[in-house]
Amino acid sequence: MPSGEEKQSPLTQLTEEERLFSETVSSFAHEEIRPLSASMDSEGKFDPNLIQKFFQLGLMGIEIPQPFGGADSNLFMSILAVEELSRVDASAAVIVDVQNTLVNNAILRWGTEDQCQRYLPRLASQWVGAYALSEAGSGSDAFSLQTRAVAGKDSYLLNGQKMWVTNGAEASLFIIFANANPELGYKGVTAFLVERDWPGFSVGKKEDKLGIRASSTCELILENCEVPVSNVLADIGTGYKVAIETLNEGRIGIGAQMVGLASGALDHAVAYSKERQAFGQRIADFQGIQFPLAEMATQLEAARLLVYNAARLRDVGKDFVKEAAMAKYFSSIVAERVTSKVIEIFGGYGYTKDYPVEKYFRDSKIGTIYEGTSNMQLATIAKLLLE
Ligand SMILES: Cc1cc2nc3c(=O)[nH]c(=O)nc-3n(C[C@H](O)[C@H](O)[C@H](O)COP(=O)(O)OP(=O)(O)OC[C@H]3O[C@@H](n4cnc5c(N)ncnc54)[C@H](O)[C@@H]3O)c2cc1C
Repeated sequence: MPSGEEKQSPLTQLTEEERLFSETVSSFAHEEIRPLSASMDSEGKFDPNLIQKFFQLGLMGIEIPQPFGGADSNLFMSILAVEELSRVDASAAVIVDVQNTLVNNAILRWGTEDQCQRYLPRLASQWVGAYALSEAGSGSDAFSLQTRAVAGKDSYLLNGQKMWVTNGAEASLFIIFANANPELGYKGVTAFLVERDWPGFSVGKKEDKLGIRASSTCELILENCEVPVSNVLADIGTGYKVAIETLNEGRIGIGAQMVGLASGALDHAVAYSKERQAFGQRIADFQGIQFPLAEMATQLEAARLLVYNAARLRDVGKDFVKEAAMAKYFSSIVAERVTSKVIEIFGGYGYTKDYPVEKYFRDSKIGTIYEGTSNMQLATIAKLLLE
């Protein structure tokens, strides 16, 4: 850990294996990602060499079984990786998050033996994946999507446009949701595995964003893109189930991203408050600085516990959907609150790009939006409470 920040240890118990893994990812993030973070943010582009290192470290196939080249681990380990990466760079975290919690997860769960053989080894070793559900006109109301899949003899022809696709610039494999039977409404929605270099598929505009600027967010264009029947993921008409169930798990990862980035910001605030002098003493000696630090650490620990609990529930096969929604909802609130307060603790310097804390603040905002807005999390929590 470089000087200028102090890592606050999570109070939460980790096993020895989890602690070692978390420390390995943390060292990698500080040594290799930290030096590039600000320039990747200003250029709006993630360093491809770092993505290669994610593969070498086994971070892109955490739950993929060993026979397919993965680490054969669980969601909780993905959560720890996302948290530690996000502590340094939230864009790095979301690349790893989407790969593990959405793309690999969906193929592991619904892929045929042939699909697992063809794609999991590549996803564990060299291919970035992306997950394309949203469109310009359908985000929260995801299943009103307009992309269509028309059945041919041995294939489907896909036409439409996807929007907001994380990893779109880097991905080689895309899970694309299209409606194969619009007359059935959401029961026509189907997931397809589409390779980047297939005719009729192209990646369009890349968004210029407020935060997580180094993470690519792209439009996808499908013009008579022919997808073989063997690349339908799960059955025709079950894409809504694939989407709901992967996103239920994926949003625990977004909770981890929010906890990680808020922890990173707090680490900086603790260190800075012990260095910065005002009125002849360290600002850390003022109660007006101590109490917000204590409050942030407490809220952060509560958010972390929600995230870890949801991941552990999922890994042991218990109900976790309400807990996952609570974890994402609460951790995104805490992340915004903490990163905003940390800027105040840095005073004027916090408002400049000379220090990394303004980036944490910008990066935090996405937590309330993707993988279900905060309102959608509240709707899920309320529905399950009232059931
Ligand atoms: C950086 C970034 C990366 C993304 N990555 C991906 C990705 O990889 N794959 C992907 O498929 N999508 C991705 N998305 C899309 C993201 O999931 C959607 O933006 C999100 O679901 C919200 O949809 P929307 O933007 O259409 O907003 P809308 O659905 O139009 O929502 C607008 C507002 O209305 C509220 N609202 C809508 N419906 C209700 C309701 N029923 N009750 C109460 N309030 C409601 C929302 O909470 C929100 O405040 C990404 C988005 C961003 C910004």
